[in-house]
Amino acid sequence: MRSIACLACGVVLAGVSAVQAQHVVAHRGHWDTDGSAQNSVRSLVKADSIGCHASEFDVWITADGVPVVHHDAVAAGMVIETAQAAEICGVTLANGEHIPTLAALLDTAAALSVRLVCEIKPHTDKAREAEAVRRSVAMIGERGLDRRTDYITFSREALALLIDIVPQWCGVYYLGGDMSPDELQAVGAAGPDYSMRAYEAHPGWMERARELGMKVNVWTVNTDEDFRRYIDAGADFITTNRPERLQQLIAR
Ligand code: MG
Repeated sequence: MRSIACLACGVVLAGVSAVQAQHVVAHRGHWDTDGSAQNSVRSLVKADSIGCHASEFDVWITADGVPVVHHDAVAAGMVIETAQAAEICGVTLANGEHIPTLAALLDTAAALSVRLVCEIKPHTDKAREAEAVRRSVAMIGERGLDRRTDYITFSREALALLIDIVPQWCGVYYLGGDMSPDELQAVGAAGPDYSMRAYEAHPGWMERARELGMKVNVWTVNTDEDFRRYIDAGADFITTNRPERLQQLIAR
């Protein structure tokens, strides 16, 4: 069984009624601030600069085999999976940066201390998706970043491959919202990383995940009301577009 202690480095929590320490995960980096943009290198630097626990980003692989960081399947009208890296990395983001390669993002991360949450996007071509998984894991390992990286995905295929190949100290969390904590444990996942809607649809899942020794992440939590709800519920990790506001509420 894979270790599940990765996302919460250094924090040992026991029992669902214990006081939980929440960790802030910046969703697509800290982008809703001056000079930043979603999934930009700057958003990673900004997440680090405000002391986020982790910064999340999304990975696709281009037709010529280059992992790039972007949320949507399409960039400037081009389908990333079938485009060349030079084309995709020529697309300008809202802050003036170009879409970064994963290599560029990781090279910057190596000089920072923020943890990384690497999302492998579900590719249309599952062989290309597997290549995205293998290349991302290799590149993170080559830079010595595996000790502070966890992986997330909506893809069942990518989930299985990640669980198979990542070092045991990396957590692999599932985003889909359609596997129970017991099912996640059976396949070796570190825990659920589910939407608020998924937890609301399955009121017992958060508690059951913790009974099984898993860590629980929830996304994308952005309002004060929802922040308070998931702080009170004892979510271990809260993924948000408003990391500074969440930090303020946790500090109170
Ligand atoms: Mg993502």
